[in-house]
Amino acid sequence: MTALCVVLGILGGILILGLLVLIIRALTIKNKSSGKPFVKQEGRLEEVEKHISQAISIATVSQVDESAVDKAQFEKFADFLQKTYPLVHSRLSKQIIGGALVFFLPGSDPSLEPIAMLAHQDVVPVSAGTEGDWTHPPFSGHNDGEFIWGRGALDMKNHLIAVMEATENLLKKGFAPKRGLYILLGCNEEIVASENSSAKKVAAYLEENGVRLKCVVDEGGGVIPLSYKNIIDKTLVGIGVAEKGYLDVELSVSAKGGHSSAPPAHTALGIISKAICRIEKHPYKAKMPDFIYDMLSIVGRDVKSFPLRLITCNLRLFKPLLTFVMGKIPAAASVVRTCTAVTMCSASAAPNVLPQRASAVLNMRLMPGVSIDDAVTRLKKIIRDERISVKVLKGNPAPPVSSTKTDTFKLAAKLLGDGCSDRTVAPYIVMGATDSRYYTRICDEIYRISPFQTPVSLLLTTHGTNERLPISSIKTAVKFFEEFIEQRTAF
Ligand SMILES: [Zn+2]
Repeated sequence: MTALCVVLGILGGILILGLLVLIIRALTIKNKSSGKPFVKQEGRLEEVEKHISQAISIATVSQVDESAVDKAQFEKFADFLQKTYPLVHSRLSKQIIGGALVFFLPGSDPSLEPIAMLAHQDVVPVSAGTEGDWTHPPFSGHNDGEFIWGRGALDMKNHLIAVMEATENLLKKGFAPKRGLYILLGCNEEIVASENSSAKKVAAYLEENGVRLKCVVDEGGGVIPLSYKNIIDKTLVGIGVAEKGYLDVELSVSAKGGHSSAPPAHTALGIISKAICRIEKHPYKAKMPDFIYDMLSIVGRDVKSFPLRLITCNLRLFKPLLTFVMGKIPAAASVVRTCTAVTMCSASAAPNVLPQRASAVLNMRLMPGVSIDDAVTRLKKIIRDERISVKVLKGNPAPPVSSTKTDTFKLAAKLLGDGCSDRTVAPYIVMGATDSRYYTRICDEIYRISPFQTPVSLLLTTHGTNERLPISSIKTAVKFFEEFIEQRTAF
């Protein structure tokens, strides 16, 4: 009896001590802060606003069917850039590779690898029939003093113009970098996993010419005000260190066909449907990557409410539970596992005809580390039906994750407000695909950054109706690119 009391006493002591550690951590852990808020660039840059509006008004629309692309718009866009940024065009060399505009300014020290600033010239089309839903026409570039409206305002003529402005400004001040600078403007980024990707061609060209890049900065990331009741009140800056891979897979099966009045137990469509059921029943297991854990830990330290801090400041302990819960919420699940969506299906052409062939298309978003072969092997294992053929339509695996320990990441984080009392900078994963993925063979430090402060409600207009850019975000963004390009090419 006495021995049992001693054991229970020791266990109780350990439990109380453990709880105390959790409480102390919740009370004391904070992100490092200088105590000073981030200094935003106040005021407006009306010339830059005008250039963004002009860029939007040139309808450089991507089309899956390349023959439908209005090439004249891209030529007009290139002419507009040439007129608007004379120093970039006179001091940097310019080439056109697969429709991409490739600018290069050599550095004074050729032993240092150049940096590359990426952007794409193209935008997605406006969905047919929705043109009238826009407050201002999608290719008007209308400026109402608060927003610039139009397709590409957020994705990504804002970013492209800001990079050009920043470079032009630096050249005006006699910019003579140590490292070289590439500005690489793709023309068909919006066509996912395109065989004809201009970025792919540029990356191949650079590789053939023995170029290695110090870093690549592309779209993605965000500066998002995060304020919720009394729980959190910060501006979250996400730097994309990773992005998901993309894969379209077709499942198909052939059958005899015939009249539907005498059907077999399972038609071709029935067989495909069973496979779909099995796939949906067996999602990938949720697994939290290190950089997502880092992001949640960093954001968790900013949580204000005490009981919640017990969890958010002791995430290591709650990681398995958190991963499980995130896996159950669709929006959160996408950052902890490879996702599969069954998006298309086809079978017989008439109600009374048995299908001779049925097919379904799955769209998968692969986590870093999951190859296309892995995904296909897993699908076949789940389907367990040899009548069904599994064919890869197109895809790209996720590029490797870039480190948060590099000088490039640290510089970008510092310029975006890391250490400021009102900002939290954290790594994260970009859900969509960016052109930067093609550069992994010639660059290890790839970051997806958007320095434009934009609330989530506006970000949701990307690719949608009423896409618009807050004018208040422009000056700070141009300043970011100016400082980043100047400083990253100096060492
Ligand atoms: Zn984009």
